[in-house]
Amino acid sequence: MSGNRFADTFRHKGLRKQLAETVRKKGITDENVISAIEAIPRHWFFDSSFLEFAYEDKAFPIGSGQTISQPYTVAFQTQLLQVKRGDKILEVGTGSGYQASILYQMGAKVFSIERQRALYQKAKEMLPAAGFLVKTFFGDGYKGLPTFGPFDKIIVTAGAPFIPEALIEQLKPGGIMVIPVDDDDGSQTMTTVEKAADGSYEISQHGKFRFVPLLGDKVHD
Ligand code: SAH
Repeated sequence: MSGNRFADTFRHKGLRKQLAETVRKKGITDENVISAIEAIPRHWFFDSSFLEFAYEDKAFPIGSGQTISQPYTVAFQTQLLQVKRGDKILEVGTGSGYQASILYQMGAKVFSIERQRALYQKAKEMLPAAGFLVKTFFGDGYKGLPTFGPFDKIIVTAGAPFIPEALIEQLKPGGIMVIPVDDDDGSQTMTTVEKAADGSYEISQHGKFRFVPLLGDKVHD
């Protein structure tokens, strides 16, 4: 029997400790990020037949043509966000809900948008059942969540052709957005937008990554 859907064995915990060490060796220094990677059971976000892949440092398909990001990428984006307890954070691209759970684990109030109905439904049920109190929304991340903003931090987890103006607007003064922006070779440059108190902002770049695309137009039933 597979038993409890949210089982977390010594073996899983051991594999997770190794995964946390892997992201540390790859250069992650924020101890709160490393602790969150060690705390969140990534195998809960996988279909049971693929559990053996959950603790490899790799992206993996989650259905609807999407992927759960590579743990190192999750850690890297989260480190750039400089998460503090109580931060109000908008995530664009809920996917499996793993990244949102990492942010929740770090004490953030998390609002996450997904445009694929099936993934939204799955995350909306799974996250509270697992004890991760993330607010999930079905909609278009290009528009953000104007009625819930502004946010201390914004994280986009799909490759964006440009930085959406609506998201910059929904960032608080002093806020940080982390967004992978498309290059012309099919990969993305990890980009941060830091908003100053006077509303001006500064953009900086943090290396190459590869994401599934941020899709526009209409939401997907
Ligand atoms: N953060 C996710 C990984 C997501 S992959 C995790 O931890 O598992 C990127 C996700 O962005 C996909 O689920 C995709 O459907 C979603 N997406 C793509 N375009 C979007 C848009 N315009 N608005 C909201 N979500 C979008």
